[in-house]
Amino acid sequence: VAELEQRLIERYFTGRGARRGDVALGIGDDAAVLDVRRGAQLIVTTDALIEGVHFIAGAPPRSLGHRALAVNLSDIAAMGAEPAWMLLALVLPRIDHGWLRDFSGALDRLARRERVALVGGNLSRGPLSITITLAGVVERGQALRRDGARAGDELYCSGTLGEAAAGLELLRTGRRHVTSAAARRLRRRFEYPEPRVALGRALRGIASACIDVSDGLYVDASRLLHASGVAAELELQALPLSQALRQQFGALAPRLALAGGEDYELCFTAPRRQRAALARLSRRLGVPITRLGTLYRGAGLRLHSADGKSVTQFSAALFDHFGHWPRASARGRQR
Ligand SMILES: [Mg+2]
Repeated sequence: VAELEQRLIERYFTGRGARRGDVALGIGDDAAVLDVRRGAQLIVTTDALIEGVHFIAGAPPRSLGHRALAVNLSDIAAMGAEPAWMLLALVLPRIDHGWLRDFSGALDRLARRERVALVGGNLSRGPLSITITLAGVVERGQALRRDGARAGDELYCSGTLGEAAAGLELLRTGRRHVTSAAARRLRRRFEYPEPRVALGRALRGIASACIDVSDGLYVDASRLLHASGVAAELELQALPLSQALRQQFGALAPRLALAGGEDYELCFTAPRRQRAALARLSRRLGVPITRLGTLYRGAGLRLHSADGKSVTQFSAALFDHFGHWPRASARGRQR
């Protein structure tokens, strides 16, 4: 078994990902040896994808290879850090060479693009699960955290929200046959999320706090507010909803944007004086940045509806329609 594991690792994983000069010793020894540059801090995160919990049985291996790394890249992005090295712990129910080829190919592509080297890991037999530990570096003291937001700052998010959850809903309800461009776009948002690494890097020195949107804007923004000890008002009509989402889900679109997970956009805060800098950043990176509301003293996230009525709490009803999502699709409930 050890020999088979060794052969599979050599065939599918050795040399995958980016080649980096700071990998003094990569796959092949008992552990990797990495050079961390002077003045930098190491940023480390891990995330497991488990079949039946975080993805549907039979999910395409290309999507899994991409997502397993993307979800970790998103956490590194939320810290304002630069991704560098990953470890992969893969548990497989059986040896399927087609699956391994597609999985490792997708992982390799994203890793090269984001300059991440695969420096170790292990392979074992059991129920399908994929765990990646990703490390990166950030200039000392410059990591973006959740606890830096202050009353008076403004609340922002990148990109559009709710599309990944909508895509998952299309996949789960068997609406795979819907082949409109909108439906394809939504499914793609779920299967191939694009973490905001460049934006996270650029937000150093601009954002006062940051978190990535993995469990839905409402939940993740609330975590940021809680960590910072502030409250916020969020304008429902400000939510960035794509044309595709509106077209496929109509009036449910705002709920998906608030309660759906897996977007991997960034939710952050910044002082008002950074408005112009953020507008420039948005243009330079080609990433929409939307101002959602303002922070004030207190606790909690208050929603304002389009007609000016205050929705004082995010009622259970808002979740009910998609009550199965957080459990079925979301990751990392402990965070
Ligand atoms: Mg996160």
